[in-house]
Amino acid sequence: MAQELVFAPLGGVGEIGMNLSIYGLGDERRKTWLAVDCGIGFAVEEHVPGVDVVLPDIRYLVEERHNLAGLVITHGHEDHIGAIMDLWPRLKVPIYATPFTAALLEAKLAGEGGAPEIPVTIVPAGGRVTVGPFDVEYIAVAHSIPESHALAIRTPLGTVLHTGDWKIDPAPVVGPPTDEAKLRAVGDEGVLALIGDSTNAVRDGRSPSETDVAKSLAELIKAAPARVAVTTFASNVGRLRAVADAARACGREVVVVGRAMERIVQVARETGYFEGVQDFRSIETYGYLPPDKVLALCTGSQGEPRSALSRIARDEHPEISFNRGDRVIFSSRPIPGNEKAVSSIINSLVVRGVEVITDRTHLVHVSGHPRQAELEEMLRWVRPQIVLPVHGEALHMAEHAALARRIGVPKVMTCQDGDVVQLAPDGPRIVDEVPTGRFYKDGRILVDAQARTIPDRRRLGFAGVISVALALSEQGLLVTDPEIELTGVPETNDRGESLAEIVYDAVVSTVEDMPRNRRRDPDAVAESVSRAVRSSVAREWNKKPMCHVLVLTV
Ligand SMILES: [Zn+2]
Ligand SMILES: [Zn+2]
Repeated sequence: MAQELVFAPLGGVGEIGMNLSIYGLGDERRKTWLAVDCGIGFAVEEHVPGVDVVLPDIRYLVEERHNLAGLVITHGHEDHIGAIMDLWPRLKVPIYATPFTAALLEAKLAGEGGAPEIPVTIVPAGGRVTVGPFDVEYIAVAHSIPESHALAIRTPLGTVLHTGDWKIDPAPVVGPPTDEAKLRAVGDEGVLALIGDSTNAVRDGRSPSETDVAKSLAELIKAAPARVAVTTFASNVGRLRAVADAARACGREVVVVGRAMERIVQVARETGYFEGVQDFRSIETYGYLPPDKVLALCTGSQGEPRSALSRIARDEHPEISFNRGDRVIFSSRPIPGNEKAVSSIINSLVVRGVEVITDRTHLVHVSGHPRQAELEEMLRWVRPQIVLPVHGEALHMAEHAALARRIGVPKVMTCQDGDVVQLAPDGPRIVDEVPTGRFYKDGRILVDAQARTIPDRRRLGFAGVISVALALSEQGLLVTDPEIELTGVPETNDRGESLAEIVYDAVVSTVEDMPRNRRRDPDAVAESVSRAVRSSVAREWNKKPMCHVLVLTV
């Protein structure tokens, strides 16, 4: 049977986050798979109460795990590695990653009680590895974390360039710039398809360099009259390094605040990315250092409620506080969905007289993803036959596709999570569909997004719950007064009458009005009472709470 090469995204297409793609090589009936990345998405609290993290549904990969040759990781961001801890035990597949990414994963597992032990095969940065029938070459790209790589995946049916997350930065603070020479060389060999990052495809021009951000941060830190705090993504080691250098240049000691930040600093020191960076001071010294001799490097740039900065803004941090005249720099930009949480922190700080600096007025942040001029340049280096935009919402992918068409890429196509796209022969075309979906990480349990759990919780959040307990005799008579409990329901209506009493009356009259023989059926009683309670409350409140009725026959 004829050999085929296919690509199927199981997450990360049509959404930012939850990246997981598979490539398949084989005939129509049986393929060997290579998985690329295994990340989480972030949930927006109002939509999924009680859940912060979303994971891809890997039902299909679990079924196919005997044909799964390996999981290769492009870089260490949570939207690329964050789901490994929870999903790997179901796949037990060999994982390949570069040293920094592997160290980050290991540190994360070590920080979680009861995490599985996950073996990782280390590929040197810029190295090459054979995974089943796939020859995978890691090509260095600049991004906002060390050791981000594009993957040149060579197969007998052609080469795919999976870009991962990248930008063009001639002077990244840490690590090498995007390896133009190697990308051009792969282009010279011939590239069948480019599967690429679309995050910033709606923005024209080029993104500024990390070095420009470092300069601007250095000026702001130097000019600060009192205490300075900087918050950024913990994983942006280049940014941390720039802040550390700026602090040293003006005689400030650095104090690291927040677990995620401490973890990254340690990994950066272990893997050599912090070579030459001064030792940081312990958090206890913060209060003793003169205000113009200290700088706090804090977690919380996304407004996470339990993060260091959030606690500081609420004045609930045991060691760290900011006062009038201090300066807080947000070296970050909120991920869509986090804007409210971030502005609430900013407002709390401003109210206390703290000066807040963001990227709205100063060059204190730059994205790690390519804008249009960078996307164009990549396409000119690689010259793919096919472009398939991924890593973006529908709009980002459409812009990326439009750009590829504009500069003359022969075949451009967009797809969705679950589409199986045949790349060769005769690609691209959608030839099949595999099951996809999402799981919520709810506490320590994975819950299928299709399950009732979260919709129930949302309903509870909207209108509360009423619990009723009844004791009926064998003849169907009420033995005692019903017990009624209202949770999340107003106590009185707008005339000041007790809703509990209104519910009580509805319960009693419903039971008494039921025909005797029906009253002997506990399920029928529960059903009628529940309906009566909900509508009696809806008449007063215009909302229908959930209602649980427990009927005991005595
Ligand atoms: Zn990403
Ligand atoms: Zn990334």
